[in-house]
Amino acid sequence: MAAALQKIQNAGWYRFKLGALECTVVWDGYIHHGYDGIFPNAEPSEMARLKREWRLPEDHIPMDLNPVVVNTGDKLILIDAGMGRTSTMFGATMGHMLANLRAAGIAPEQIDIVLMTHLHPDHSFGLINPDGSPAFPNADLYVTKADWAEWANEANLVRNDFKAAWSQGTLAAVAPYRERVHFVVPGEAVLPGITAFSVAGHSAGQCAYIFESEGQKIVFTGDVAHHQVFDPIHPEWFFHMDYDTNPKQGAAAKAAIFAKAVDEEIRFHGYHFPYPGLGDITRQPDGTYLFHPQPVTPRL
Ligand SMILES: [Zn+2]
Repeated sequence: MAAALQKIQNAGWYRFKLGALECTVVWDGYIHHGYDGIFPNAEPSEMARLKREWRLPEDHIPMDLNPVVVNTGDKLILIDAGMGRTSTMFGATMGHMLANLRAAGIAPEQIDIVLMTHLHPDHSFGLINPDGSPAFPNADLYVTKADWAEWANEANLVRNDFKAAWSQGTLAAVAPYRERVHFVVPGEAVLPGITAFSVAGHSAGQCAYIFESEGQKIVFTGDVAHHQVFDPIHPEWFFHMDYDTNPKQGAAAKAAIFAKAVDEEIRFHGYHFPYPGLGDITRQPDGTYLFHPQPVTPRL
């Protein structure tokens, strides 16, 4: 019997546990990024080899947007806010996070804290609704001072490059939270069981967050690494000469976070890795790394 194609996918949320924490990835959508300007110091033959071996798309890099809500039992903490629906500067394939959050049984009003890895558009613009109202009206905003100074910066508005539009959007996104901004200090505890770890380079104040519960740890890395294959195998590859504030520092940050994840047995979450972005890093004999995605399961 012929049946109509359904043409819809499951709701984009995925739940997993870490010790006593209940974590929910809430997919905001995806970017298909062209190869132009990406990994500018990559050896082309090595790039071609990895594409072939890992069966990667030839002409674009798929990047999911994977914000995560962590329920500590005491607070609901959102890590990064997605691109949201205020701008289509990176395409019209994003802005699904609030719908997925509700589908996962969480109301935006319940979010107590938003921890920002950094303030780039695909992480910060989702802080507001298209009318400028806060998407998370009861949340405090946590961000490093260095990132705030770089992106929530009116001086950028007169620039002649992409930073003008990025800052304009970020300034609008953080506007409703201005009275509730907390500056995170890398290397220090943000809240009990949560430590900030500097991965500066992609942005000036980029920060990863390590959560610990019942002896288990996970690090939410934002996009210190953009790609699940290229970055662990070649942490020395720069992401982009424009979009990285300091490409060399960004590459060193990748190597540092991979080493830390392996040495301290910390589970790894990549904001732009294939949904839901959760897995483990291992070290190869030559000192480079591999990312092993955790299989998605209906079990909790
Ligand atoms: Zn990003």
